[in-house]
Amino acid sequence: MNVKTRFPPSPTGFLHIGSLRTALYNYLFAKKHKGTFLIRVEDTDRERYVKGAVESLIRTLETVGMSYDEGPILVDGKLSEKGSNGPYTQSQRLPIYKEHAQKLVEQGSAYYCFCSKERLEELRNQQQIAKLQTKYDRCCLKLDPEEITRRLSAGESHVIRLMIPGGETTFHDEIRGSITISNSEIDDQVLMKTDGYPTYHLAVVVDDHLMGVTHIIRGEEWISSVPKHLALYNALGFPLPSFAHLPLILNTDKSKLSKRQGDVAVEDYLAKGYLPEALVNYVALLGFNPTGDREIYTMKELVEAFELSKVNKSGAVFDRTKLDWMNGQYIRAIDPERLFMQAIPFFGSAATLPDEQKKKILEVEKERLTTIKDLEEHIGMYVSIPDYPATDLVWKKADARDAMLHLTNLANLLETTEATTFEHRELIESTIKQYIRDNDYQNGNVLWPLRVALSGQTQSAGPFDLLWVLGVEEGMRRITKAIDNLHT
Ligand code: GLU
Repeated sequence: MNVKTRFPPSPTGFLHIGSLRTALYNYLFAKKHKGTFLIRVEDTDRERYVKGAVESLIRTLETVGMSYDEGPILVDGKLSEKGSNGPYTQSQRLPIYKEHAQKLVEQGSAYYCFCSKERLEELRNQQQIAKLQTKYDRCCLKLDPEEITRRLSAGESHVIRLMIPGGETTFHDEIRGSITISNSEIDDQVLMKTDGYPTYHLAVVVDDHLMGVTHIIRGEEWISSVPKHLALYNALGFPLPSFAHLPLILNTDKSKLSKRQGDVAVEDYLAKGYLPEALVNYVALLGFNPTGDREIYTMKELVEAFELSKVNKSGAVFDRTKLDWMNGQYIRAIDPERLFMQAIPFFGSAATLPDEQKKKILEVEKERLTTIKDLEEHIGMYVSIPDYPATDLVWKKADARDAMLHLTNLANLLETTEATTFEHRELIESTIKQYIRDNDYQNGNVLWPLRVALSGQTQSAGPFDLLWVLGVEEGMRRITKAIDNLHT
């Protein structure tokens, strides 16, 4: 079988972490089975539509490295699409839904409903007071064909509702096994709204069928919709796809992952300096355990390892600490050029430094970063030395005279050292260490004042690294300034 999966977001503005995982599992499953992955824009809820959301979604998917075979794309910043099953935006498919809704009405699987908002509200209130299930009472099912025709031709506002059959619905879920839901719990779902747009339920079934989707992998909040969808599949004579419903993503207190407890938008994480590959890796393991204790996986490795049978049934906790740890691992392990490209937005005041120097800064600072954005806190001292008290230059086991002695000696040493030495971190280190050994000094006496002189900070990268990044000229300037500082 040719596997085809889909990710059909509603364009409401940003990509939720949970949606990233849903998209990712669909992607991994399709790739694993050498199938097709499509993106569809579900924009039939016009009230929730956010302008620019589709463009932003396309960019985010590209950033996280999730390519798709069919769906909307950007060409020179303008929306277009690829694939032969389009349009991939539901608002451009209205005649298709209308045709299917009419077919359902004609065969008696759906019916026109002219009930006003007020009547439906009143019905709801009464049902609530009587502690009954809130459901449409099928009032319009009693209308005779002539009356329906008359009201339709008079242009009366109406919807089309699905006739939910009696009995119960049982279906197989790839993750949860067999699920049975009593149909009496299900309302006669509106399929076509008064505004002429379909609801999600009609559109999703029609599109998944017409677009050839074989596997529907989505969040567990959609389980209760399956009976409606199956009723539609059956009524329309469509073959059934496979279903897999993913567990919830939870906050650390086990509540559903929500904005109130931190960021939920993928875009926010990227803006905060999380690497796309780290985010993908972390999110992939929310509810999916490949084997053993291994935690770092490339996208390619995730594709190889992915199996729906290894997806957990219970909720997965989104643990920011763990994500931070993973991001740090990625920052230290990825290709320096790639890290540099990702870091470009975060150089702040150092943006105007030459690229070579910025790359050196990254090389030195990456050990201390949790997110690339942390760079902003570390970067200022490379641009200009902050003011600092002369007492900072004094090592805890020494005094100002000692600091002065070593800084003066170091200034002489640097001046007499071959300039090319300062191009290599190891040579800088060995030159200074040689000097310490030759004179039988203690590391702290020499390296502490040197490091503070170079950084203006009591906590910073090491002195050899700093000299390597700053270069000998700037290094000398800073050492001289420190000596002056000790004098005054
Ligand atoms: N448009 C729905 C959503 O925004 C898609 C649900 C589905 O995958 O069927 O989540």
